Amino acid sequence: MEIRITKKELTEIVYDAYEHCKRIKDGKNASYIPYLAKANRDLFGITLCFVDGDVINVGNHDHVFGIESISKVATALLVLKDYGCETILKMIGADATGLSFNSILAILLENDRPSTPLVNAGAIAAVSLVRPVGNRGQKWKAICDNINALCGSRTEFIEELYQSEALSNFKNRSIAWLLKSYNRIYDDPELSLDLYTRQCSLGVTTEQLATFAATIANGGVNPMSGVRLFEARFAPKIISMMASVGFYEYSGDWLFSSGLPAKTGVSGGIMGVLPGLFGIAAFAPPIDEAGNSVKAQAVIRYLMEKTGFNVFECGNIRIDE
Ligand code: GLN
Repeated sequence: MEIRITKKELTEIVYDAYEHCKRIKDGKNASYIPYLAKANRDLFGITLCFVDGDVINVGNHDHVFGIESISKVATALLVLKDYGCETILKMIGADATGLSFNSILAILLENDRPSTPLVNAGAIAAVSLVRPVGNRGQKWKAICDNINALCGSRTEFIEELYQSEALSNFKNRSIAWLLKSYNRIYDDPELSLDLYTRQCSLGVTTEQLATFAATIANGGVNPMSGVRLFEARFAPKIISMMASVGFYEYSGDWLFSSGLPAKTGVSGGIMGVLPGLFGIAAFAPPIDEAGNSVKAQAVIRYLMEKTGFNVFECGNIRIDE
């Protein structure tokens, strides 16, 4: 089927989707990180960024919240660029675990690799690979520079979120040391865990995440800055990872119902990519049992259904001026 829509029609659908979903009350704030438990549960924002840099914003699109697991996408890109696809496949993997984001069982089952950089084990392993290995300061700079460039502007470190997470991340500490016992972490485990926790504590807005997603949709060129941040060949690789495991144990249900490769964060953010067309980000703190924002899922799903957009659409999708 051919889908043709104008930017004006799409803008109306985004507003309509926001109105339609804003009264949803389901889900609970993440409770295992105290800072997230106390976030205002009524915050709700959405941004769509076209590959030409045009933007549609609705609701709390400028509210700063913790990037959390969406940071995994950025650091996966960084190590893909530095090491290449073959090495990352061998040292981390690209398999969906079908289990929760911090599953220990997944590490035991997948006995030769951490599985994918988009779950905690693989993300901590990805941070361990960031160069220069062993150098905390320069590694942290490389991680932040990469995320800031993808977002098109500086992200803000949320010290209170970091402290809250650092004092409660016992499961992630176990993951880091379990990886060490299998030789699947490639720098000091405590340093890798700490930098992972720090990258999760960077504050972003939906506008920044939509720019990040649009950079992927645009094959590596940030539509705001015009700067090429990664080679076009890495875009389908990172999109495939988002599609296969972006919603953890709910990834298949999400992809089936929305048709959009996307990645969630436990603070309530979702970032999705429609290749060649746009990036989208939505934010609302209450999450489901898998750690995915209920309202952000609903608003994106509504938009995808209303427009007929789908990454698996076999016909042409055109967005006209
Ligand atoms: N920092 C969080 C954690 O490691 C990220 C989890 C998430 O966003 N799903 O538990």
